[in-house]
Amino acid sequence: MSVRIPFINAYAALPDRFYARVLPTPVKAPQLIRFNHGLAQTLGIELNGADDAELAELFSGNRMAEGAEPLAMAYSGHQFGHLNPQLGDGRAILLGDVTDANGQQRDIQLKGSGRTPFSRGGDGRSPLGPALREYILCEAMTALGVPSTRALAVVASGEAVVREQMEPGAVFTRVAASHIRVGTFQYFALRRDNEALQLLADHVLARHYPDIDTQADDRYRQLFRAVCQRQAQLIARWMLLGFIHGVMNTDNMTISGETIDYGPCAFMDAYHNETVFSSIDRQGRYAYQNQPAIGQWNLARLAETLLPLFPGDEAQAVADATAILQDYVHMHQRAWEQGMAAKLGFSAVQEGDRERAEALLVLLQEGRIDYTLFFRRLSHCTLSGADRGALLSLLDLPQCRKTAPLEQQLNQWIDGWQQALQQREALPDAEARMLAANPAIIPRNHRVAEAIKAAEQGDYSVFHSLLAALEKPFSEAPEFAAYQLPPQPEQQVLRTFCGT
Ligand code: AMP
Ligand code: MG
Repeated sequence: MSVRIPFINAYAALPDRFYARVLPTPVKAPQLIRFNHGLAQTLGIELNGADDAELAELFSGNRMAEGAEPLAMAYSGHQFGHLNPQLGDGRAILLGDVTDANGQQRDIQLKGSGRTPFSRGGDGRSPLGPALREYILCEAMTALGVPSTRALAVVASGEAVVREQMEPGAVFTRVAASHIRVGTFQYFALRRDNEALQLLADHVLARHYPDIDTQADDRYRQLFRAVCQRQAQLIARWMLLGFIHGVMNTDNMTISGETIDYGPCAFMDAYHNETVFSSIDRQGRYAYQNQPAIGQWNLARLAETLLPLFPGDEAQAVADATAILQDYVHMHQRAWEQGMAAKLGFSAVQEGDRERAEALLVLLQEGRIDYTLFFRRLSHCTLSGADRGALLSLLDLPQCRKTAPLEQQLNQWIDGWQQALQQREALPDAEARMLAANPAIIPRNHRVAEAIKAAEQGDYSVFHSLLAALEKPFSEAPEFAAYQLPPQPEQQVLRTFCGT
């Protein structure tokens, strides 16, 4: 085999009870759909002239990469609020970790590679649709500047998987700073295994939080605060882009602060703060506006696992964790306010900015106005004499609820915003700031659905074109203009499925 992956296998060096060693189950006829050459290069993977057939063998799990120590990680998790003490990688196998070009450790994991000791009733496989969705969404998030797991490869398995109906299968290769989740800590806390908890926390400190002094008494408390900080910022980024994760279970929240597990996730088109896409989220637990609070709930579950490692007695540990969790709310608010300031062209947050932004969101919601395009087109309206035609034409889209009073209120809001901008900022800078904060192109749900549907019929060109359009989300390249547009009513896709 000519491909060389420089595995270091740091997770495999942890004790046996952290995982189960397991080999992928070969698939019938692996065919490479896409390989991420740029990412492979940063990971230090040497292709040595490998062709598509070789890559398909390797990234389907049919042939084991040299130096890999494949394993399925153990974890628990709260799923929709209910504790499941034993989850773990049921359809994923970690090949190993490498050190990338920036000196960062990264996991390489196959998803859909067959059963593991954690599969419970599942088949360990993945249909093609969810594999492509994850590929598209994680690469789009990365291009949008959001911390995220990455896509290295997707391979058609040549086998059918049985879900509600027969579907083509695929193996997806995911790259992550690590796959350690809140649920990984829960797994050991539930088993009262403090030794493993400390080993895990030390591994996380070294791997993800090297700035924390490993000699400090309060290092695990600092770790908890740092995780809260990253999640507060991450979820703020989601909110600012209109991203709805859809299944924020504690096993789907990383300790590194990367977005992980793109299942029923979607970006909203028309703004509404109660938007839910996931077909299984019947109560709207993971609705758009609930995400910051759910983040806090999940972090509280993490705090519970870390308390035995905090300094001081139990009462002190609980008081400290509670204070940090309260702080998370402020961390999130600050991140959101700063992000929203940039979306509106401001270089810094001032008093009244939050209220101004919230007033705009009320209007967007009332009019069911396209969230992404509104901010993008607003970016071209910083001058008081600017032509508002393109911006206000968004109200003529079929899904909008256009009324004369709403249009008037929007115009008033724009007047006030332009005045504030003129007082506080140099306008060319403000416009540049807005164009860098407000994407023109997001992976709109109907586009993702369209790419998956074509691929299921053997045509991958729609998938490749969509990925090309998503590479430069902040540019308005004419060849990708169509990707900016919201769906027509008959194109709307309002439900998404886990597809597991
Ligand atoms: P997820 O919905 O991807 O976060 O998965 C939740 C849990 O279900 C994890 O433990 C997965 O490994 C497991 N799981 C999901 N789909 C399958 C499958 N097809 N076979 C085995 N386990 C699965
Ligand atoms: Mg998961």
